[in-house]
Amino acid sequence: MKNIVILGSTGSIGVSTLDVIARHPNRYSVFALTANSRVAELVAQCKVFQPKFAVIADASQGDALRTALLQAGCEATQALAGVDALCMVAAHTEAHSVMAAIVGAAGLAPTLAAAKAGKTVLLANKEALVMSGALFMDAVAKHGANLLPIDSEHNAVFQSLPADYKKGLAAVGVEKIILTASGGPFRNMALHDLVNVTPDQACAHPNWVMGRKISVDSATMMNKGLEVIEARWLFAADLAQIEVVIHPQSTIHSMVQYRDGSVIAQLGNPDMRTPIAYALGYPERIEAGVPMLDLVKIGRLDFQPMDAARFPCVRLAYEASARGGTAPTILNALNEVAVERFLAGKLAFTQIPLMIESILSKSAIADADSIDTILAADAQARRNAGTYLAEGIL
Ligand code: NAD
Ligand code: MG
Repeated sequence: MKNIVILGSTGSIGVSTLDVIARHPNRYSVFALTANSRVAELVAQCKVFQPKFAVIADASQGDALRTALLQAGCEATQALAGVDALCMVAAHTEAHSVMAAIVGAAGLAPTLAAAKAGKTVLLANKEALVMSGALFMDAVAKHGANLLPIDSEHNAVFQSLPADYKKGLAAVGVEKIILTASGGPFRNMALHDLVNVTPDQACAHPNWVMGRKISVDSATMMNKGLEVIEARWLFAADLAQIEVVIHPQSTIHSMVQYRDGSVIAQLGNPDMRTPIAYALGYPERIEAGVPMLDLVKIGRLDFQPMDAARFPCVRLAYEASARGGTAPTILNALNEVAVERFLAGKLAFTQIPLMIESILSKSAIADADSIDTILAADAQARRNAGTYLAEGIL
C-alpha cells in the first residue's frame, strides 16, 4: 500500500487523482487531502477516502473544518489549517507520493517541502517549477526525490525519452522536444474579436475540462509558455531545443525528435487520468478508467505553426526564461493577477499579455538564488500589478 497526499484535492486534477485511486483500493491509501477554502467539498472527500489528515489552507477555516469532519462522522481524520500544515503533510514520514495539484504560486512551499523530504512528487503544479526551477531541481537531486510529470505534455515527453535521459539530452541523441498545443478556444477567432471574449468563452476548452485559471492560460497560450519553462527544467533542455506546434485534436500529447530523424510521440484521449495513472503506477501500468483511443474515429491529426501575433504570451515566456533569475517568477505572478482580473470581468482578454509585458519590461530582475528572493519577487510583482490596474494604465 502506498500512502498518497493530494495537495489541491478539490480541484480538477485532485478529483481525477481520487478517481484513479478509487479504482485501486489495494494499492493506494489516501493519507492527506487538502483544499484552499471549500470545507464542504473537502469533508465530502474525507467521508469517502478517510485520510489521516485534512488540511484547509485558509487558516480561518480550521474550526469550521474540525466541526464539519466530526458532524460527518470522520473521527479518524485530523483537521489542520494553514500553509505550515500543508508543508507538514507533504513532508510526512508516512507519506509515499505527493500529488502537487494546487494551482499557482500557492503550491510552491508545500511542493518544495515534499521534494526536500525526498518524496515521489507527482507534479501538476507547473507554476511552482516556473518560479523556482533551478532551486526546485536542486532540491529534488539533493534529497533523492522522485519527480514524475503530470502535465500531459511533459508526461508524454517523459514517456518518449529513454530511461537514462538524465545523462543529458545530447548524450541520448535528442534533437528537440516538441510540445503540442491545441490552440485553445480562440485559435480561429478573428483577432479584432478577441477583445470582447468573456470568461466563460475562455474557459470552454475544445478538448480538456480543467480548472478556470489553466483554462484561461490555455486560451492565451500562456499555459504553453509556462510549459516551455517547465520542460526546460524537467529535462535540462535548452530553450532552443523546445518547439511548440499547434495540434488541434490534442491526441498527440507531445513528442521527442532524435538525431537520426526518429520522432517518438505519446498519444491518447485527452483525459488527465492517463498521466495521473502513469505516475501513480510508475513503472507499472495501471488502469485509469480512460476509454481506449480510437484512431479511425479521430480520422486525422493536424498540425499548424504557432501564430505569434495571436499568442504573444508564448514569446513573453521564452523571453522571461532566457532572461532568467526572477523574471519567470514575475511573469507568473503578473499572469496570475491578470487572469484573476479577467475572470472577475475587470480586464479585457487582450490586456492580459499587454499588462504582463508592460510591467515585466520595467521590473528589476534578481538572481533566483533563494526561496525568499523568489517569494519577494512574486509579492513585488503582485503589488506592481495592483498599482498598474488601480492607475488604469491599460
Ligand atoms: P483547480 O482550480 O481545479 O484546483 C486547484 C486546487 O488548488 C483546489 O483544490 C484548490 O482548493 C487548491 N488551491 C487553490 N488556491 C490555493 C491556495 N492559495 N492554497 C492552497 N490550495 C489552493 O486547478 P486544476 O485545473 O486542478 O490545476 C491544478 C494545477 O495542475 C495547476 O497548476 C495547473 O496548471 C496544473 N494542471 C492542470 C491540468 C488540468 O487538466 N486541470 C493539466 C495540467 C496541469
Ligand atoms: Mg499541459
